[in-house]
Parts: sequence; structure tokens; C-alpha cells
Amino acid sequence: MSTVADAFATRHGAAPTGVWFAPGRVNLIGEHTDYNDGFVLPFALPHRAVVAAAPAAGGRSRVRSVQEPGAPVEFSAASVVPGEVPGWAAYVAGTCWAFREAGYPLGEVELELDSDVPVGAGLSSSAAVECAVGVALAGLAGADVDPTTLARIARRAENEFVGAPTGGMDQMASMHGRAGRLVFLDTRGDTVELVPFDLPAHDLELLVVDTRAPHAHASGEYGARRADCEAAAAALGVPALRDAGPDDLPRIADERIRRRARHIVTENARVVETVRLLSGGADPRAIGPLLDASHTSMRDDFEITVPHVDVAVEAARDGGATGARMTGGGFGGCVIALVEADGAAAVTASVREAFAQRGWAEPVVFPGTPSDGAGRLT
Ligand code: ADP
Ligand code: MG
Repeated sequence: MSTVADAFATRHGAAPTGVWFAPGRVNLIGEHTDYNDGFVLPFALPHRAVVAAAPAAGGRSRVRSVQEPGAPVEFSAASVVPGEVPGWAAYVAGTCWAFREAGYPLGEVELELDSDVPVGAGLSSSAAVECAVGVALAGLAGADVDPTTLARIARRAENEFVGAPTGGMDQMASMHGRAGRLVFLDTRGDTVELVPFDLPAHDLELLVVDTRAPHAHASGEYGARRADCEAAAAALGVPALRDAGPDDLPRIADERIRRRARHIVTENARVVETVRLLSGGADPRAIGPLLDASHTSMRDDFEITVPHVDVAVEAARDGGATGARMTGGGFGGCVIALVEADGAAAVTASVREAFAQRGWAEPVVFPGTPSDGAGRLT
């Protein structure tokens, strides 16, 4: 993706100061646990947002995106505050704002953005943009900002500038990812441990299936699940569901709230068990039943799946997958399937066939390869 550097040079008559990148992510296991002080286990994708950047002359910053053709969006990076920049550029301006709020120096900037992270598919194109801009701003400032601090800056942009009440998993995965590794994140305290996930060594692949299901009511349902989890923690008298165990669940009187809590409690346990197996050098096939159980829990207890993802999971298993689950916040988005490398084609065919039979748009299937987190390209 040196094309952003070329586009920048053509437009500005000079090369950018540098080119930085940050990836999208897939969550292997640990869904909706992040806002319950729990555990998640994502990895960074090879798909990235790339940003060419340089200081801007004059009192305005400008950002362009290949994915948002048209005039550049202008704002003042040195003074912008929440509410001033709507639309896609809020992810960029918000990162500038949060970077300044964290106490780092920031003048005006020229930014040229490109990304191959699918937008709105649950692969966190938004965190990729924020984190790419974050590492670019740190690079331009010559500031040595650690990855967790940049992830928090990026998350603050999304929460307080864009206004999306998400947890911190996406930005931490985008910043901390590493080739061949999973990012085991304890969201209480934001501690990170890299866990080996060497699929080629075991003749395995992790397929990502973008179901292209229309996202329905995702943000409203997300808020409702957060509220249910808070109600469950309050009923148990614990600070967060992270602090509850299976024995506590019968104490929750409301049937729906109890099921929501059961998903979080069992999902946290599945993340910990997945990490135990993989860190201990187990054959990754051993995590298949945990992936399956996670999906069942999301479908029946947390109720965040939709027919497209349930069908994709079933078809992947019918096609020979060792384990499969929805990944991401739910109500659409992607499914992952752990498959034998020589069985990937059969699993893909099975999912395509199931979708074709129902007259649904063809899903997009690609291998999810754990890749490096944000950094500087040139
Ligand atoms: P996801 O993060 O799952 O892809 P979100 O709704 O959180 O979905 O974020 C998608 C939004 O992020 C887009 O609607 C757009 O505003 C912004 N975005 C993502 N990638 C780009 C890009 N390459 N250029 C401009 N804006 C982008
Ligand atoms: Mg997002």
C-alpha cells in the first residue's frame, strides 16, 4: 500500500513524513466480555488501514480517505472538540482530540488514508483507522507512546468523539497484535499476554466468513445487553460479572438476566481454558468444542446471533470444521471456523451452498492469519 504515499506526493508535491498502519481484528473467543471486566482473545488481521501523514502548513488539518471519495474533511487538530466533526472523519478528528487530551503535542496535519479492512463487517475497520492515525500522530510528534496508551486514546475517540459505547478490545488487538500470536487481554487493568497460535504447523486454518448479513438494531441491542449485564452484577452485588462464577447464577431471579450472566460467566471460563490449552502447547484442534460452545451460548443465552450467522456456523460444521462460532458484537457480521488446511475448500463450499439455497448473497470467505499490530511502514 505505497499507493497512499504516491497519492500524497502527487497531491502535495512532496513525500509524506511517514506512512503508518494499523490492522483490523478478529476475536477468536470472548464475546461481550470486554465491558464486564473480563477476558478476550483477539488477533490482528493482515487487513490494515494505512495513513500517509505530514505536518500541515496553515491553521487547518485535512484528511482524505480512498474509501470516502470527495473533498477532504477539514478541521483543526490542535483545537477540535467532540461534536465538531461528523461522519467518518470523526474517527480521525476524535483520535487527534484524544491524543491532545492525553497530553501530547499536536499541530495541524495532512492525512491520506486507505484501508482494506471491510467496513461494518465486525472486523473493526473503525479501530484500524483510529489506531493508524494514533501511531501516525505519535510518529509525527516524535513521541514514544506505548501501545496500550495509544489503544486507550483510540478507544476514547470512538467512545467520546464518535459516540459509540464500545469496549477496548478492538484497539488493544490492533495495537498489540503479532504474527502467529493471539492477544490475551484481561480488560480489568488492560494487561496483555501473547499466546502462540501457529496454525500452519498443525496443518490448520482459521476461516473468516463475512456473512454480509444486514446489521439490524445492532447498537440498540448492544446497549440492552450492557444494561442486562449491569443488572446482573447489581443483583449479585459484584463490581462486574467478571467477579461472578457459575455457583452465583441461581441467585439471579430474573430468567433473562440470569441467561445473560451465564453467557458472560461461561464465556470468560472458555477464554481462560482456550489460553490454557494453547499456552500449554496443545493441538489447536482441542479448542474446537470451546468455539462451538461459545456459539451456542451467544445464540441461546445472550441472543445476539441472526439466521445468517447460525446457518454459516452449522454449514461450516457440516462441511467438516473442527469448531465454529460467530465473532464480533453480533446481529450480523462474521463467523470463524477452525478447519483442516486441506478441508478449507469443502467448508467454504458448504457455507456457500447453504447461502445459495436460501437465496442469500454469497458470503466472503478468507483465511484469518494472525498478523502484526500497528506500526510504521516507511
Ligand atoms: P467496523 O468497525 O465493524 O468495521 P464500525 O461501524 O465500528 O464498523 O466502523 C465503520 C465506520 O468507520 C465507517 O462507517 C466509517 O465511518 C469509518 N471507517 C472505517 N474505515 C474507513 C476508511 N477506510 N475511510 C474512512 N472511514 C472509515
Ligand atoms: Mg468498529
